[in-house]
Amino acid sequence: MTRALAVLLAASTISSPVLAQRGEVRSISPSDKQQGAAAHPQLVQEFGGAYRGPQAAFVTRVGQRVAVQSGLSNAGSDFTVTLLDSPVENAFAIPGGYVYVTRQLLALMNSEAELASVMGHEVGHVAARHSAGRNRTAQGSAIAAAVLGAVTGSSLAGRAASTVAQLVTLKYGRDQEYQADALGVRYMTAAGYNPYAAGDILAALDDSTGLSQQAAGQAGGNTPTWASTHPNGEDRVRRAEKLAADTGKPRPPQGAQDTAFLRMLNGLPYGPAGAGMRVSVVTVGPRDTVDTLSSRMAFPSYKRERFLVLNGLPADQPLKSGSLVKLIVRS
Ligand SMILES: [Zn+2]
Repeated sequence: MTRALAVLLAASTISSPVLAQRGEVRSISPSDKQQGAAAHPQLVQEFGGAYRGPQAAFVTRVGQRVAVQSGLSNAGSDFTVTLLDSPVENAFAIPGGYVYVTRQLLALMNSEAELASVMGHEVGHVAARHSAGRNRTAQGSAIAAAVLGAVTGSSLAGRAASTVAQLVTLKYGRDQEYQADALGVRYMTAAGYNPYAAGDILAALDDSTGLSQQAAGQAGGNTPTWASTHPNGEDRVRRAEKLAADTGKPRPPQGAQDTAFLRMLNGLPYGPAGAGMRVSVVTVGPRDTVDTLSSRMAFPSYKRERFLVLNGLPADQPLKSGSLVKLIVRS
């Protein structure tokens, strides 16, 4: 199984014909579909398995609703959207229409539109076939190593698994990220979502990454994060906001909440599997402050900072009574 997978991946990347120039493709090719289908189970396993809680169906529905706008699939059903049971914030896609988001990144989101923008970005990578160019170049030596492993029979499982991981861990070029952002904004807007959410989730990822670095030692280990695979930063946030403005859609009013989305997150496990932490969505009471609520966060340190980042809140504004906030609590 692992040997076959390593060889299949190697064969499909090394021998694939020269691809069309950069730009969107019209459909998912049978060879991409085959490559994706072969890598999918191992990839899912590598990232903690599929999370099958009530949020999984929601993620699939939003992902397919956005994916259909790419024109690659009439019903969006050619896209396999998986919510991963991983404590690392990330989202990625592989050839063949396989799109992934982790529950840790889902927990960071504050609206369905933010989820739609992440899905749109990843579908954009698929539509523009960004991984094809990436496989041919940067991944060549890794593939060669995997083939060598398969031929000599040395630590097959580990090599095959790391090859699969490399499908998603190598960085895209900056231009490819910008292109995926632009396609993502186009798809999500066509699907009826407010495009300003794209800048919001990119900013939230920046903040969360910064906080994780500050509070080093947080769960995650060697599994690649969004930050390690997506060149991000303020420039990308600004560009996303420009893309949103260019659609002509109005910016949502400040403080507007997607309460249905936030309630949907309630109960989602958080952090490492089995750590006994989950998202708890609570209503801000008239006497609640950032301090009273953040004191309930199930972390030994950075409670206040984590609370603000998790909820996308500015540090200097009082909470609005009656609004919803996310807490991370012990189950
Ligand atoms: Zn990307």
